[in-house]
Amino acid sequence: MHCWDIHTHRQGQPYSIFQAGKSNMPAGIPVSMGIHPWELDSNWETYFEKIKRVAAQNPCVLAIGEAGFDRLKGPQISLQKEALYAQAKAAAELGIPLILHCVKSHDLLLEYLKSAKSPPCIIWHGWNQKSELAAQLLPFPVFFSFGRQLLHPGSNAAKWLVACPIDRVFFETDDSELEIESIYQAASLILQLPEARLAEQVIANWNAISKRKIS
Ligand SMILES: [Zn+2]
Repeated sequence: MHCWDIHTHRQGQPYSIFQAGKSNMPAGIPVSMGIHPWELDSNWETYFEKIKRVAAQNPCVLAIGEAGFDRLKGPQISLQKEALYAQAKAAAELGIPLILHCVKSHDLLLEYLKSAKSPPCIIWHGWNQKSELAAQLLPFPVFFSFGRQLLHPGSNAAKWLVACPIDRVFFETDDSELEIESIYQAASLILQLPEARLAEQVIANWNAISKRKIS
């Protein structure tokens, strides 16, 4: 049973989804492709057309993203909304999840979710927000990816992991130097479940929400 890392910026890790972003896609490895809010500029639609083509033709593209909202960094919110809505639509059409970057923009996500007729499954990556905010998202197809914050026992991430429905859970290393096993270990201690059980759960969770499967 492999401990999948569903979001990493380090290329060449086995059983991981490499964040290729809007750059060229590395051949033959699982990737996520999309436009990060920090990378949005007036040309984003040109990039996005290319990403859509590559994603449609290439089953290695397991997710769209990371995409989302950031009130601390990035262009004006209207542009961020336009790009997120377009990327969410593409993910829904392909039947694959969207990996979400969301900073001080919980309200913008809720606004999207309430307005969307058929949103994709959205994985909020690097979850470390208050559990009350997470609970507000449960009526929607929102999932939570936990990373390095789990190594801090009192973190919001650790608190929500305990309360979060287990079928909404993923794990990641993101841009850290950590090994994914250390995240699974931390989760295993918090949840009092064997790592192998968590590894199995993450694969099942992914396969339940994506047309492009992992094993
Ligand atoms: Zn990231």
